[in-house]
Amino acid sequence: MSALGGVGQALRAASDLVWPADCAGCGADLAGPICPDCHRELAGTVRRRESGAARLVPADGGPALPVWSAAWYRGPAREVIVAWKRRGRGELERELRRVIGRTAEAVGRTLAQVTDEVAVVPVPSRLVRRLKRPSGGTPALALAAAEALACGRLSVTYADVLTRAATAREQAGRSTRQRARGREGVTGVKRAPQAPCLLVDDVLTTGATLLDAERALARAGARTLGAVVLAASPADSRDVGLEGN
Ligand SMILES: [Zn+2]
Repeated sequence: MSALGGVGQALRAASDLVWPADCAGCGADLAGPICPDCHRELAGTVRRRESGAARLVPADGGPALPVWSAAWYRGPAREVIVAWKRRGRGELERELRRVIGRTAEAVGRTLAQVTDEVAVVPVPSRLVRRLKRPSGGTPALALAAAEALACGRLSVTYADVLTRAATAREQAGRSTRQRARGREGVTGVKRAPQAPCLLVDDVLTTGATLLDAERALARAGARTLGAVVLAASPADSRDVGLEGN
């Protein structure tokens, strides 16, 4: 390969990083990261999607935590989110921030009926994913949600207060005591927000992660009102193996 050819390839790779030539949802060739059809899938009607998230239901049979999103986690919406999370398509983040902001804004009108203030809390990613992540992750989404909520009547704080220990699969090489602690729940709380909390995560699958976050906050003395996510798995496709996809 000539030196010039090498430069050309490097430039092409660089421009692909900035502006890939295909839609992240369906692969269509276009001059933008998401085509209009896939965008409609991603930014649909904001509604409650927790029904069917088996592990979100508390053991005592109480009601599941309300979870809102504008999309189901399937088809093009799923492709876009996976491309952002795993395939290094960081340019999608701006649009995903807009989607979660619009979702939070809609939820804010509901929350305003029960509270004057809310703490927006990002759900931390798994350690392995965090290390590989090229994007701002859930904190970037939560910030966008907080900004959108702050435009309404609520007093809003951004509270990046949750920590996440290694999951069982990530615990290889840890001591027995560390593993036992891991089984108690992987979410920790740095400091409990004073205001009722709204959790922000990328997707809802089984609900195990959100339930763990809600419980950790409750142990620390904080109340959780609900969660907003980019997309939720349809009830008929939920199984434990999907968690964290
Ligand atoms: Zn598309």
